[in-house]
Amino acid sequence: MRLRSVTTLGAIRILVLGCFALLLCSAGQGAEVRLRILETTDVHMNLLSYDYYQDKTTDQYGLSRAMSLIKAARAEAPNSLLFDNGDLLQGNPMGDYVAKVQPLKDGEIHPAFRVMNQMGYDAANIGNHEFNYGLDFLRRALKGANFPYVNANIYLADEHRNSDTPRHAFTPYVLLDRQLVDAQGKAHAIKVGVIGFAPPQIMLWDKGNLEGKVIARDVLETAKKYVPLMRAQGAQLVIAIPHAGFEKGPVAQFSENAVGPLTEIPGVDAVLFGHAHAEFPSKAFADHPKVNIERGTINGVAAVMPGRWGDHLGVIDFTLDNASGNWKVVDSRASIRPIFDRASRTSVAAADPMVEQTIGDVHAATLEYVRNKVAFSSAPIYSYFALVGDDPSVQVVSNAQMAYVQRAMQGTDYEKYPVLSAAAPFKTGGRQGWDYYTDIPAGPVAIKNVADLYVYPNTLKAMLLTGAEVREWIEMSAGQFNQIDPKGAAQQSVLNDTFRSYNFDTLDGVTYEFDVTQPARYDSNGKLVAPDAHRVKNLSYQSSPVLPDARFIVATNNYRAFGGGNFPGLNASKVVLESPDENRQVLIDYLRMMDMVSSNKQVNPSADGNWRITPVPGVRLTFLSASTAQRYLANQPKIRLIKDNGDGSALYELVP
Ligand code: MN
Ligand code: MG
Repeated sequence: MRLRSVTTLGAIRILVLGCFALLLCSAGQGAEVRLRILETTDVHMNLLSYDYYQDKTTDQYGLSRAMSLIKAARAEAPNSLLFDNGDLLQGNPMGDYVAKVQPLKDGEIHPAFRVMNQMGYDAANIGNHEFNYGLDFLRRALKGANFPYVNANIYLADEHRNSDTPRHAFTPYVLLDRQLVDAQGKAHAIKVGVIGFAPPQIMLWDKGNLEGKVIARDVLETAKKYVPLMRAQGAQLVIAIPHAGFEKGPVAQFSENAVGPLTEIPGVDAVLFGHAHAEFPSKAFADHPKVNIERGTINGVAAVMPGRWGDHLGVIDFTLDNASGNWKVVDSRASIRPIFDRASRTSVAAADPMVEQTIGDVHAATLEYVRNKVAFSSAPIYSYFALVGDDPSVQVVSNAQMAYVQRAMQGTDYEKYPVLSAAAPFKTGGRQGWDYYTDIPAGPVAIKNVADLYVYPNTLKAMLLTGAEVREWIEMSAGQFNQIDPKGAAQQSVLNDTFRSYNFDTLDGVTYEFDVTQPARYDSNGKLVAPDAHRVKNLSYQSSPVLPDARFIVATNNYRAFGGGNFPGLNASKVVLESPDENRQVLIDYLRMMDMVSSNKQVNPSADGNWRITPVPGVRLTFLSASTAQRYLANQPKIRLIKDNGDGSALYELVP
């Protein structure tokens, strides 16, 4: 209803402007055209609708399904342009297969581009995960795209060049000359400027791949420099494609979520964003300042973020007018179109058979790869309860890292320090969907299962830290919990939904408890917000309290070690082991070894229970997890079902 009335208003407005344009038309000038902009983002190699971890087809993601939406959206509009925002080449076993198992050769076309070259993309942006396999791989892959790639804020780190004028590592922007057809069928020329940005944090997250080779500059600083330049060079419409999310509050320099202020830069007409794997416009952003979710604008500028993995198509409809002698945006409306209807849980977009036809060979090879057996597990490994208690799915990763680092430290100066290990659950439902969990049945464990336990291609790192730093690390993780009022409601929700579970590092090798009646000591930016609060209690090593000046080696990954997640005190200066080995490979090797050395040729995955949430007397601590997790309740004496919500989720409580 509401949408319809707004559309009517829009039509009246267009009519008024149309008359105005007609007057000028009679003088031989003005015209009005419609231009539709389409965006895909964070495809993460989900070209097909296939879940390689569960080894089955899915109707909830896949670019092949978004393709049907693209075709439909194009058919409705006389003029359209299609863009991808990036995080394309990494994210599922097919991405790993092409980069690592059967590495792409020079001159070979990456399967992503074998597909996308047939879809008529106009330009694309480079996401942070594009750097995960190194620059050589990225350049080799990008050569296969028959459309331009843009990035304006990454420069070559050439020390012989004046730092004021470094060379771009990629094409900073393009000016696309296009013909737009008006309602009378008359063609009009337009120059569309397209500029791309990656989060500057790539320098930390992919330090090993990028240090000494490229440097990254601030997104906003770069936009302020180039948008006016693009305009001066004749761009009549400027489309910014930042691989960045949209934060509510003020945005710090070098923020990875620069979208808010980017819309305030004069000359930007549209922002096609992503990175956060969220959906804009949607109700989730309704309370953000300067947002109009009906029109799909931020600060009045058209903006769209179509989820992730091809699960949505972003659409911006522009009405442009050149009555003034230059093309101007007179109206815009942004929306996202899903491939899957969440309310009815039904597919609303069929998979385009072209994708399967085009990359069926790589799909088959990927399947063969992920089905290779690594070990035999005597018990199921699942992540349904990993946020509320010690959990085998995290423990097994932690154990593998610890064994690796202990071996690596032998014979070095660091051999004398105890080794701890940090790991986080990656698949914990919630915003990613109630089937987004690890759930590996007892029996043979294949590579697909290990990739499911460790979804990122991180590399293993170890840091030398003090006892005080170890404590603050866990305090930062403790942001995972809501503050519980011991005198408050009898039933309180213990998990903070806005906290990213990949930042919920638990540390093995020490024991501790979380006192959730305390406020969180740090905010999500690692800022100390409650200096007197301490959630971490009884932190001990071998039954003795951890002293502030004790020393530990802590196994972790490149993301955390180089500052990812803004953990207090964690940065490159503390790294003492920089392994090029992926945590996932370390896990595969560990499982193979455990399987071999165990007497019954089985791995027994079990958590050591080294941490827990301290019970709060008089308060039932509740949390949401998958409805399907109920089948494991018999193994979980500390967890009880309250109710099944019927939407894939269920409410549980922790039993003291
Ligand atoms: Mn992404
Ligand atoms: Mg443990």
